Amino acid sequence: MATIEDFISAIPKAELHVHVEGTLEPELKFALAERNNLELPYTTAEEMRTAYDFDDLPSFLSQYYEGMSVLLSEEDFYELAMAYFSRVAGQNVVYVEMFFDPQAHTSRGIELGTVINGIHRARVDAQERYGIRVQLIMCFLRDMSAESAAETLEQAKPYRDWLIGVGLDSDEKGNPPVKFREVFSDARAQGYRLTMHCDVDQEDSVTHIWQCLNEIGVDRIDHGVNALEDEKLREEIKQRDLGLTVCPISNSYVTDGTKSEAIKAMLKEGMCVTVNSDDPAYFPGYMTENLIRVQHEAELGVDDVTQLVRNAFEASWLNDTDRAEYLDQIESFVAAG
Ligand SMILES: [Zn+2]
Repeated sequence: MATIEDFISAIPKAELHVHVEGTLEPELKFALAERNNLELPYTTAEEMRTAYDFDDLPSFLSQYYEGMSVLLSEEDFYELAMAYFSRVAGQNVVYVEMFFDPQAHTSRGIELGTVINGIHRARVDAQERYGIRVQLIMCFLRDMSAESAAETLEQAKPYRDWLIGVGLDSDEKGNPPVKFREVFSDARAQGYRLTMHCDVDQEDSVTHIWQCLNEIGVDRIDHGVNALEDEKLREEIKQRDLGLTVCPISNSYVTDGTKSEAIKAMLKEGMCVTVNSDDPAYFPGYMTENLIRVQHEAELGVDDVTQLVRNAFEASWLNDTDRAEYLDQIESFVAAG
């Protein structure tokens, strides 16, 4: 393998933290706006990219939700998801656990079935066309009420078999994990796996991560970088073998830098830290670019990069047989040098 960048690009990878709505590139936004007879407040995709201006979570979220207005039909959701799969197929991403935000659409009058059917159809085609295996995670918006989350869980019942887990995202300030204790407990009873965002450098980040462990009983944590600040918390996360889905380029937009050194520190601690893209159309960079960025900034070696990639399969919600198969693929890839 010529360079470490080539190695990163070619190694079979998993992505565990990507929001399908966050993969909406400006070019597709224009195409969908045209098909749906909608006006966008920009004349070109480039102008739209330049206008993206966020330096924290709330300022990002306002543009993220505005962008979704072009998503109306099942076909729109299908094309959105397919565009992401075709892109990461070129980066040798072989397994994805993908988030979607039903309430961001049902609150605009779009049926839940329209959203789920479109993404599900894309997932089936991605497996056939690119050999990418995909599982779906339904996220509740934490700045909406717990009742709304419970209604969404109820509405999703007919699609239960298509969903592997539930998550929690959007604006964390004033919306702690415990607000959703009951709905997550109901989801657990229905057999869903559980994860929650603990965004980086939020007010009460460490308290929120403890809540995820002790009050919710999550199977994984999205972001969770601030766990490093509390030794007991670090130990507990290690003890429970909880995966952390960190998103370096995303971090560089909404907080102070990529947190690459924190990722390295977590690796050295033996924590199951993974690297992901989050919302790659808004925080430019898919899986390969995120891994390269961390490798450069934290000066990681091939073994560290391999461990990050391996961790993603370890932290995934694959069954043990399938997980072992993917881990074998990585070992063969590394052995082939
Ligand atoms: Zn996220």
